[in-house]
Amino acid sequence: MTSCKTITRSPVDLWTAQRLQIPIEELSAEKLFAYQMQAARDLIAYLKKNSSFYKEQLKTIDANEIRTMQDFQKLPTTEESDLVGQEWKFQCVHPDRVRRMVTVPTSGTKGMQKRIAFTDHDLRLAMAFAPTGFSVMCEPGDRVLVMMSGGRPGSIGDNVARGLEPMQVAASVYGEIRDLSDAAESVLKEQPDVIVGVPYQMAALERYMDKHRMPFETKSVLLSADDVPEAVCERLRKSWNCNTFRHYGMTELCMFGAVECSGADGYHMRACDHLFEIDRPDENGFGEILVTTLQHEAMPLLRYRTGDIGRMVTTPCACGSPLPRIETVRGRKANAISLPKGDLFLRDIAEVVYRDPAVIDFMCVVEKNRTRIEIETLSEDRADEALISGAVEELFLQRGGENPCLVESKTYDHKDHMTGRKKWVIRQ
Ligand SMILES: [Zn+2]
Repeated sequence: MTSCKTITRSPVDLWTAQRLQIPIEELSAEKLFAYQMQAARDLIAYLKKNSSFYKEQLKTIDANEIRTMQDFQKLPTTEESDLVGQEWKFQCVHPDRVRRMVTVPTSGTKGMQKRIAFTDHDLRLAMAFAPTGFSVMCEPGDRVLVMMSGGRPGSIGDNVARGLEPMQVAASVYGEIRDLSDAAESVLKEQPDVIVGVPYQMAALERYMDKHRMPFETKSVLLSADDVPEAVCERLRKSWNCNTFRHYGMTELCMFGAVECSGADGYHMRACDHLFEIDRPDENGFGEILVTTLQHEAMPLLRYRTGDIGRMVTTPCACGSPLPRIETVRGRKANAISLPKGDLFLRDIAEVVYRDPAVIDFMCVVEKNRTRIEIETLSEDRADEALISGAVEELFLQRGGENPCLVESKTYDHKDHMTGRKKWVIRQ
């Protein structure tokens, strides 16, 4: 939390008001929704005309009849498996107009890949949002270090750096962390005001720098992933005296999706471009996050199943925004174990594991009668295995499950594998 500082209104609200062509004072959830429904009707007409997949799927749908959320939710959903191997059926423009094709591994079947196409227009929309997303943490003159995959056009690092261009900040792309000592030295050398990184890698970097007496402070860290444990944010805030901001995005959205404000009260959505919804929420409001890429040209997706479980919040934000937000992302649906009194997510386990400051990475194997957690620490460090084991067993018990937990520690060796690749194997 950032309670010691003033909470400024999320810049996403100003972006939204400008798109709606109204003063920010007049912004409301109703006005945004009316805009989204108009965009959805236009999109349906566009898809029926240009995508052979949707032409078939939406043949009985009259776009003009989509007026309410109930109407919208009667539309069919799109699965990742619909895309794989038949992306051409989704493509709505001539191949000449595809500016970038991004290939990403699917979250489902191992080894399968999906390809997502973007036109210049789609890329421009994302780049037009980026300064808004970043202005919550960056000011002109700041130095930003991007510690995410970079080096080629369309990579996350490259997109972030390009998105920052209009902001007069100096962005450099370090890339993903493969060697903690090299990453730590770069951070000290660059002295960035803002770091953009992968949560688990940032947690490892923090521990490494702390252990090696490399004092470092920064203004903000932007953490981008499907789930960002609070324990990781806390560790960074305490050690680096910084703010943390979570971002939720994915390739299908042309990367940028939703970002926290300094009130840490939910993710403010890029809602004029994308319509987020929660599919059939349970009694606690949790369900799969679906997204419709309202404004994309090359390969717009209708009610696309992200595979992430989250919850929305509609009460005003701590920053004063009246717009709905994604309150929390619990993680991948595939990364959950079903127990009698509710699901247990990998994020829940990460929350208790990362509370131990010595942990820099972990792997978790859940078998029918036991849970095995392999902790990685630095050579001079030791995690409290008994404490972690007790806390993980408690998570199972709270959900009506009983699973003895065995915790083993090993020393992190960067030559083995890249840190921050938390693994989760369920053998039930
Ligand atoms: Zn806010």
